[in-house]
Amino acid sequence: MSSTWHILGAGSLGSLWACRLARAGKAVRLILRNDQRLRAYRHAGGLTLIEQEQAALFAIPADTPESAGPVHRLLVACKAYDAAPAITRLLPRLAADAHIILLQNGLGSQEEVAEQAPHARCIATSSTEGAFREADWRVRFAGHGFNWLGDPTNPALPDWFEDLANAGIPAQWTVDILTRLWRKLAINCAINPLTVLHDCHNGGLLGHLDQVEALCVELTQLLQRCGQPAAASELGEDVQRVILATAANYSSMYQDVRAGRRTEVHYLLGHACRAAERHGLVLPALEHLHRQLVDNLRARGLPSA
Ligand code: NAP
Repeated sequence: MSSTWHILGAGSLGSLWACRLARAGKAVRLILRNDQRLRAYRHAGGLTLIEQEQAALFAIPADTPESAGPVHRLLVACKAYDAAPAITRLLPRLAADAHIILLQNGLGSQEEVAEQAPHARCIATSSTEGAFREADWRVRFAGHGFNWLGDPTNPALPDWFEDLANAGIPAQWTVDILTRLWRKLAINCAINPLTVLHDCHNGGLLGHLDQVEALCVELTQLLQRCGQPAAASELGEDVQRVILATAANYSSMYQDVRAGRRTEVHYLLGHACRAAERHGLVLPALEHLHRQLVDNLRARGLPSA
């Protein structure tokens, strides 16, 4: 199996991973959206990573999904709603035994990708690292964090896992990746939509703790019904801790809405509501929140799914 890291999507997280792997001497190739983006990238001469006010340029080779050559190891670093369509385009190049590492937040996109590529091994990631694009091909490493990776269908450690430590990417293999993803999703559902509706930073929710608490009660029920008791444990306390620890920050959903960008709501609150419906659970606060958020996004001309 080739040891090249193909990285689909040179946005915030994709660039952060690509630059660190390239800096450690790993073989890395970017897969960009189309020829136009490829030309723009080549004109820039590479990716720039800014870390502790030091900018470094990495001239990482790049191509498009339609270029030639098999893909054995693929890091998917686009938004959740772009992941499955991107994999569909890449299918002709995907080796039968390919490993696909998915960086998407939320739940649902991982299953969509697995359906598109049933022979590949799909590995999900839950990341607390933070990065943002200052400009095209220029990414700032904004928040140190951690990455948990796991395959819900196979506990075996992949042979490339050591590459991450070698590249300084903090990561741990976990058999409980679904617990991590569900917990993060639940915290997101309790905080992010309310910051959009109340037009506030995370700390602004301290004035709406009754609403937050009602959501946590329902989210706890949902996690238990979905067979995720560990993700449900002390959710309300954890949500309050996150609100306090990130009081000055604006949630990712708030930032997306403010910038007029599509949100990942379909894979976050939308996923929670669909799961509740599948289980025949009536969760009035969560459903009301979803309806309000959908209305709010539509009023702004943004996709609501
Ligand atoms: P982003 O900055 O918007 O980057 C996404 C990239 O994907 C863009 O460069 C986009 O290309 C590219 N893309 C989309 N469709 C593509 C396709 N078909 N082929 C090739 N490239 C394609 O997003 P992000 O912030 O890195 O987020 C990625 C995922 O990580 C999300 O699910 C997010 O929730 C999660 N996450 C992000 C962070 C963070 O700090 N950023 C932290 C934790 C989790 P263009 O440049 O051409 O638009």
